Amino acid sequence: MTDFDYDLFVIGGGSGGVRAARMSASHGARVAIAEEYRYGGTCVIRGCVPKKLLVYASHFRDDFEDARGFGWTVGEHSFSWPALIAAKDKEIARLETAYRALLEKAGATVLAGRARIVDPHTVEIGGERITARYLLVATGGRPFVPEIPGRELGIVSNDAFHLSELPRRIVVVGGGYIAVEFAGIWNGLGAETTLLYRGAEILRGFDRDVRSFLHAEIQKKGVQVQCGVEVAAIERRAGAIAARLTNGETRLVDAVMFATGRVPNTVGLGLEAAGVELAADGSVRVDAHSRTNVPSIYAVGDVTHRLQLTPVAIREGAAVAATLFGGKPTVADHDDVPTAVFSQPPIGTVGLSEEKALERYPELEIYKTDFRPMKATLSGSTERTLMKLIVDRASQRVVGAHMVGADAPEIIQGIGIALKAGLTKADFDATVGIHPTAAEEFVTLRDRIVVTREPEDGAARAAV
Ligand code: FAD
Ligand code: NDP
Repeated sequence: MTDFDYDLFVIGGGSGGVRAARMSASHGARVAIAEEYRYGGTCVIRGCVPKKLLVYASHFRDDFEDARGFGWTVGEHSFSWPALIAAKDKEIARLETAYRALLEKAGATVLAGRARIVDPHTVEIGGERITARYLLVATGGRPFVPEIPGRELGIVSNDAFHLSELPRRIVVVGGGYIAVEFAGIWNGLGAETTLLYRGAEILRGFDRDVRSFLHAEIQKKGVQVQCGVEVAAIERRAGAIAARLTNGETRLVDAVMFATGRVPNTVGLGLEAAGVELAADGSVRVDAHSRTNVPSIYAVGDVTHRLQLTPVAIREGAAVAATLFGGKPTVADHDDVPTAVFSQPPIGTVGLSEEKALERYPELEIYKTDFRPMKATLSGSTERTLMKLIVDRASQRVVGAHMVGADAPEIIQGIGIALKAGLTKADFDATVGIHPTAAEEFVTLRDRIVVTREPEDGAARAAV
């Protein structure tokens, strides 16, 4: 591989690109990577990591309240948004440095600047042309904002991490991961928060019990959830932002945050010139090995619009490295990927929703519980926990596990291993619980509902 400047040129220093670059270098490839903003990408700089830090920060209000029930007298307390943002920025800067160092240690050439594809083996960056046997597009995505009058007055998740002050009143538009997570953050930090969702119920694609349960829980915590409504227009009005809604209402707030999905970063990248096929949504079309229709160009992560999750981008990046330079053609597995929504309370989920499971299996057994967690007995909190297992009746395999409640993401990570291993309900039952925990409910669920697919009139239910 000596005809080219490098064996691999990676465009984008986020989750997928960094992993692909590091692994390829460790397999002995000559690698260069370019990042136009900050190494670490969305997840580290303005996604998972800062978001989770803000979630922690916003939970203290409940924690102080809960403490009273356990005999604590909590003194005067106040919150400083600038102090939180400064602490968060310091940590993110540390991680960014660590990411660069890891790349350099692996032997990759680390470049700063925007890269553009010139042809199937050439990239241009900072006026210089660099050739590589393979190119990897790992440019991620960016927030999408609907075309409504005054949209420029709104903010998106990128801005939320750098606001000069905490909004006192905010409208969050959208009903997906980011909307629900940020509604919890703003509400927890004390802002009067409204979540506006255009559909009938938030979190489309999640299990229906999870959706309605979380809706009720966040509403109890103070988030005003309004479904079936959109923002029609935004305007500035006497020191405030006026959001005019499609139901005729007008909300006067300090900020309107759009969490209305993300679009792939493919514009102006030179992909069309190189002959790379894009899907209708602008994402890069790839095969199971993350290869585009141009044999020397691969793409991983959010830019391919498969599952927009960091661990998935990382797996895809590692699979490309193993395929191209590790002598081991590898396909990233997109089945049964566990995921969490860091709402308050959080959601953890793995496998199929009841609706999806019913499309795949004619008969299901559903095990479900909804209870007041032990901590609430003394804290007085009204928060409840939901757990649900979905079992294919014929094989007895657990094909879906869902939880809403404290520590759900931590608990579902473990349950995810059981699902991936194809374990049955009997295997769950044979496992002894850890007492007293909420997680033990997953091995003691006994009351079942049988759900049968009936093509004519939907799902018929019978308790057995
Ligand atoms: P990115 O991480 O977006 O990296 C792409 C990089 O490419 C960027 O740094 C960009 O600057 C750079 N780039 C783009 N174009 C060019 C160019 N032409 N030249 C050079 N560089 C370029 N996922 C989870 O699993 N858990 C979470 O809790 C979670 N929370 C999230 C919270 C928020 C608010 C957001 C927005 C996302 C969250 N995600 C979460 C999703 C996760 O961040 C993404 O799935 C992940 O970052 C995708 O990695 P990637 O490598 O595909 O792209
Ligand atoms: P999502 O796709 O999850 O949600 C987008 C939301 O915006 C949906 O409720 C959608 O409604 C709504 N929407 C889309 N277009 C419009 C419009 N024109 N007007 C009004 N509403 C609209 O995207 P997010 O932006 O929340 O997050 C992007 C992705 O990032 C997630 O899908 C997830 O993969 C990843 N992520 C992961 C996190 C985690 O792992 N914890 C956290 C944050 C992000 P509808 O349902 O009707 O289409």
